[in-house]
Amino acid sequence: LAKQKGRDHFQFYVASIDQEIRDRKQLEKDMAQALSLNQLHLVYQPQINLETKRIIGAEALLRWDHPVRGLVPPDYFIPVAESNGSIVEIGQWVLDQACMQASRWADIGIPLRIAVNLSAVQLRREQIVDDILGTLRRHDIPAGRLELEVTETSFMTNLADAVAKLHSLNRAGISIAVDDFGTGYSSLTYLKKMPVQHLKIDKQFIRDLLINEEDTRIANTIIDLGRSLNLTVVAEGVETAEQEYYLSQRGCKLAQGYFFSKPLRPADFEKFVHEFHQKVTENNA
Ligand code: C2E
Ligand code: MG
Ligand code: MG
Ligand code: MG
Repeated sequence: LAKQKGRDHFQFYVASIDQEIRDRKQLEKDMAQALSLNQLHLVYQPQINLETKRIIGAEALLRWDHPVRGLVPPDYFIPVAESNGSIVEIGQWVLDQACMQASRWADIGIPLRIAVNLSAVQLRREQIVDDILGTLRRHDIPAGRLELEVTETSFMTNLADAVAKLHSLNRAGISIAVDDFGTGYSSLTYLKKMPVQHLKIDKQFIRDLLINEEDTRIANTIIDLGRSLNLTVVAEGVETAEQEYYLSQRGCKLAQGYFFSKPLRPADFEKFVHEFHQKVTENNA
């Protein structure tokens, strides 16, 4: 009986792996078409200066509305797009959309800096610097309006190549942020060599910031590191007033998170900006 049962389990196991592979293959196919079928859009999450309480920028975040699966989370589909190469075309589309939005917002009196996530796969491409600078020119927005978020893993495959490209982008006026700082292969060597201006504390350290003493210490360490290296620290995933208060007292300059706002569609984002600044002005009056 045990043997029989074992065999059934084995078959079940094989069947489920098989299903998973088919599932993934289908997802890869769907992903390759998502752009041309208009299934992608961007949402924007405000970034707040904790001293002045003003919105200084927005992070553009990609959304995929799949006709059958519904909203597929980017943490799930970005790796798929990276592995089948469609991230190259999608990433360029994201950049174009974000720049178009930045230019439109500047036109209606909201001159914000837009942060765009850049995949390691994109950074590895030979033409990436020209592509990015070309996109800025096409939309006629100053390079200072664009920030690129890269993760520490992007530096790993070819450090010298990544340094050279980020330097070119940075010299042109684009700012660079290290995303998810503290979760990857953090190394002070990278920070020393990289032309970065911002460190983003990963949301996993913010979630239990005031509950878990280790997280408090990690956040403090990143804030202090930022101060000594003259980098602006951004906290991501700020969800409560207590977290906001602690971070601003501790000297963290920028924050984003559900406490302020979820990532929003452009029209909702504009409404949010106006209401938020209205409120701040009233509170200061
Ligand atoms: P990320 O760049 O670290 O973005 C921050 C993530 O935290 C976003 O998840 C955002 O919606 C979420 N978040 C913001 N505030 C809060 C909060 O208060 N609480 C919680 N629990 N979460 C919060 P999202 O939009 O699901 O994106 C996940 C990841 O997918 C991003 O992490 C980024 O690595 C990647 N991604 C998103 N859009 C793009 C893109 O256009 N290109 C590339 N290459 N990657 C992208
Ligand atoms: Mg990011
Ligand atoms: Mg992040
Ligand atoms: Mg993250």
